[in-house]
Amino acid sequence: MRIVVLAGGIGGARFLRGLKAAAPEAEVTVIGNTGDDIHLFGLKVCPDLDTVMYTLGGGIHEEQGWGRADESFAVKQELSAYGVGPEWFGLGDRDFATHIVRTQMIAAGYPLSAVTEALCARWQPGVRLIPMTDDRVETHVVIDTPDEGRKAVHFQEYWVRLHAGPDARAVLPVGAEQSKPAPGVIEAIAAADVVIFPPSNPVVSVGSILAVPGIREAIADAGVPVVGLSPIVGGAPVRGMADKVLAAVGVEADAAAVALHYGSGLLDGWLVDTADADRVAEVDRAGIRCRAVPLMMTDVAATTAMAREALALAEEVRA
Ligand code: GDP
Ligand code: CA
Repeated sequence: MRIVVLAGGIGGARFLRGLKAAAPEAEVTVIGNTGDDIHLFGLKVCPDLDTVMYTLGGGIHEEQGWGRADESFAVKQELSAYGVGPEWFGLGDRDFATHIVRTQMIAAGYPLSAVTEALCARWQPGVRLIPMTDDRVETHVVIDTPDEGRKAVHFQEYWVRLHAGPDARAVLPVGAEQSKPAPGVIEAIAAADVVIFPPSNPVVSVGSILAVPGIREAIADAGVPVVGLSPIVGGAPVRGMADKVLAAVGVEADAAAVALHYGSGLLDGWLVDTADADRVAEVDRAGIRCRAVPLMMTDVAATTAMAREALALAEEVRA
């Protein structure tokens, strides 16, 4: 079985761990979000690709959900002693090495997709990880500020520095319109038996991937089941600021509303948490087959059960 998953960072990576356990024989291609990418200290940092790579490769800081285990911060302290910031973005020494290798390869002319493959040769994530695009796409968030009025900030600044405090007025995937899917993305979708939207952020993770021209169309045209799992449980994100960025695109933080936002043109099946069992009928009525099952990724066993439910729902809509 060939499975394609559109993944952000933590939500996507944790789900993938369960999917690998649920379908050990499957060939899994992960299309990773690069809208969160940021250039810091002259280095190209790809937080979502790295979260997937480290989580599946056994290098992740488990509790934090991002960055490396057993991390130290000597480089950052030294930079800060020179007065070189930003201080608000946590980059550990081990993590720095990844970004140095990536930046060096890009400077030598390799596209991000080739660089990601090279980094994965070390981590052996057990999936094929492809960035959504080799082109530069950067998610910006429009906010109101007391002194500078309305302005756009990089997604990482909104999330990491401002802790998603100000309301998001708009979310802009800058550069998306001119971008092309990375080599292998469209081919993987066309060859897939099932496409899964994990419980990743619908706006700044899955939404950014779908903003790359051609990807949404390829999924809609693939003629295979497309199933998703809700990142919203009981009217709130399990973690993160999905509620803030959903509001910016006019969508309620509600498990059913997210399914309708993707729409029946794209989604065939949708899983909501048992806490949202009362939302099932509304999604079903919209032509998206819906089930309520436990959706909390508390451990690998619970996550594996979620992945099994997603695959079972896919088989049901296929039939
Ligand atoms: P990010 O790039 O690190 O923010 O990660 P993703 O976009 O892949 O996933 C973020 C989303 O994962 C958030 O909207 C969370 O609500 C969701 N999430 C995190 N943990 C869980 C969980 O245990 N269950 C569900 N259903 N969603 C989760
Ligand atoms: Ca992310």
